[in-house]
Amino acid sequence: MGKQLVIVGAGHAHLTILKNLQEFKNAGHDVTVVSSSSLHYYSGMGPGMLSGIYRPEEIRFNVKKMSQNRGAVFIEDKVVKIHPQKKRIDLQSGQTLPYDAMSVNTGSYVPVEAADSSENLLIPVKPIENLLLARQKIIAALKNKEIRITVVGGGPTGVEVAGNLDRLVRNESGKCRITLVAGTRLLGQFKPGVRNRVRKALVRRKVQVIDGSRMSAIKGTSVVLSDGSGIESDIVFMAVGVKPSPLFKDSGLTVGQDGGMLVNQYLQSVSYPQIFGGGDCISFEPQALAKVGVFAVRQNPILFNNLLCFLKGSALEQFHPQKAVLLAFNMGDGTAVVQWHSLVWGGRLGFALKNYIDRTFMKNFQVSGELDG
Ligand SMILES: Cc1cc2nc3c(=O)[nH]c(=O)nc-3n(C[C@H](O)[C@H](O)[C@H](O)COP(=O)(O)OP(=O)(O)OC[C@H]3O[C@@H](n4cnc5c(N)ncnc54)[C@H](O)[C@@H]3O)c2cc1C
Repeated sequence: MGKQLVIVGAGHAHLTILKNLQEFKNAGHDVTVVSSSSLHYYSGMGPGMLSGIYRPEEIRFNVKKMSQNRGAVFIEDKVVKIHPQKKRIDLQSGQTLPYDAMSVNTGSYVPVEAADSSENLLIPVKPIENLLLARQKIIAALKNKEIRITVVGGGPTGVEVAGNLDRLVRNESGKCRITLVAGTRLLGQFKPGVRNRVRKALVRRKVQVIDGSRMSAIKGTSVVLSDGSGIESDIVFMAVGVKPSPLFKDSGLTVGQDGGMLVNQYLQSVSYPQIFGGGDCISFEPQALAKVGVFAVRQNPILFNNLLCFLKGSALEQFHPQKAVLLAFNMGDGTAVVQWHSLVWGGRLGFALKNYIDRTFMKNFQVSGELDG
């Protein structure tokens, strides 16, 4: 007999499921997709959209159309509570939905509570739509005056945002002071070769990099650092890392140390086997995984297969995270810094490689006329 399958969050880890929804329909199941947005932006190309390397339509998936074209019901809404014992979810709109099986991919958010500002300066780097709004805001502001932008966070995202802001300002022939507050050390967890290349690429373009200081507060229009100094700013990008959605903890599911839904090697909740999950919102029990899109992307086929198998009652497949991850930082000047195992290189070839990988990924899942017209 057909079952109720609910897909929560149309994120990076669910794209294979969305593309193959017909398989569930063909097996007689009803599928409902609930996501807080009908468009999903690919984060790997987000900083490039900020600078104008990519148009918004080149980096997004029409997940509503993708679902509806394949026979699923799409609900643009937010899941606010899971009742795992009753196998039911509550949506922000007040609607409730029952499920026999469910997969969650609700991502993560940038914690900005500590930086609460009444001046409306803050732009968290997630969701990626924020980068599009920021681009429009910056272009408008550059028309009138010289502006001051501070990027808080010296990880890969802060670095890519700073480099791409510089490109945006140059393209607009505007004037802007860009400061990157890198915390303890710029790209602290990366190889010296990566750190040095990235720093050179930023400093060459007059991005001011501040190491050894963290943001402690925002007072008025000043970003206050841990050494007591302040940076006057018109816009502040927050790239201070991410946290999984609190939905799971709030719903009484077992969570990992980072607050993500704790899943086993089959990407299945350790407490409720009918709930699967992938991407930034899970905590993988066999080993801690970095919150990077690479893992979300690799979890796609496993989630798809395991949901089908679970509904059929057949054996599940294990997820084995890859040991080495190719890292490529888009510096915004037509170059990228790349790390693969112990190899580090940079330049135009690095960007060409990243661009090729990203565009190939988009091509695979842009199946709903995203680029038409
Ligand atoms: C600027 C930037 C650049 C990055 N670049 C890279 C990169 O180059 N390579 C890399 O590996 N990683 C990169 N990352 C990290 C990467 O973005 C994340 O690891 C990735 O987004 C995780 O994907 P996800 O599908 O889990 O979450 P998301 O992409 O956040 O997707 C979650 C989805 O769930 C929906 N949703 C959220 N809450 C709910 C709810 N309660 N109910 C219903 N729907 C909900 C959202 O609308 C969204 O569609 C980057 C991150 C940023 C911010």
